[in-house]
Amino acid sequence: MTKATERRREREALIQIIEEEVRQTEVYTGRSHLDLRVLNALEAVPRERFVPEHELDCAYANVPLPIGYRQTISQPYIVALMTDLLEPRPSHRVLEVGTGSGYQAAVLSLLVDRVYSVEVVPELAEQARQRLSDLGYGNVDVRQSDGNQGWPEHGPYDSIIVTAGARDVPQALVEQLKPGGRLVIPVDANAHQMLKLIRKDEAGGVHSADVLPVAFVPLVEPPPVDITRRGK
Ligand code: SAH
Repeated sequence: MTKATERRREREALIQIIEEEVRQTEVYTGRSHLDLRVLNALEAVPRERFVPEHELDCAYANVPLPIGYRQTISQPYIVALMTDLLEPRPSHRVLEVGTGSGYQAAVLSLLVDRVYSVEVVPELAEQARQRLSDLGYGNVDVRQSDGNQGWPEHGPYDSIIVTAGARDVPQALVEQLKPGGRLVIPVDANAHQMLKLIRKDEAGGVHSADVLPVAFVPLVEPPPVDITRRGK
């Protein structure tokens, strides 16, 4: 079997594992299956190109993997679930906070018009930008910045996905959501994290629902202003 065929089979097997986990977690998520378009997108993205060389053998295991800088590429099931929760449409403009490897952005790019992704670690932002461009994902823009502020220049967004655990829902992200938009974000709650789906209704009202307990690396807060240096 060629390497490419082997990878394709691994991806097909991964989709079945994801579908199985979706059924097992239905009691939390209320979803017994995911949108076929979302599963097709996961099947199309070569995850082995987003993981470090020494993790290649695990590229299609349904687990998160280290990508350096104490960060991880998320578990495929979680990527699938979060993508599905956004209800992506071909006309959508989506903001991602936490580019990491760029894998989630690549999956989204196949489902929507444009993905704007922000990453706080400069090296990860640069690597992801290069990787996404090498692989031909031309509708993704990556910039290095603090995602707590969103990316106001391109907003408002049809949906926003945060792939790091926040202490609270950043107000800037709610503001950058269109009426009818969806924000998917892991939020700390009593020493655990809860994946939340936040919806902004057409009148601008904001509604939050718990989806699933999860474990993401933390969304870093910007460093506090150093008042001792002020005016110097
Ligand atoms: N979506 C990624 C997984 C990201 S892990 C993927 O598909 O590979 C979470 C990422 O969020 C890390 O890369 C981390 O550096 C980044 N991050 C943490 N705090 C952030 C912040 N305040 N703004 C932007 N990115 C942040």
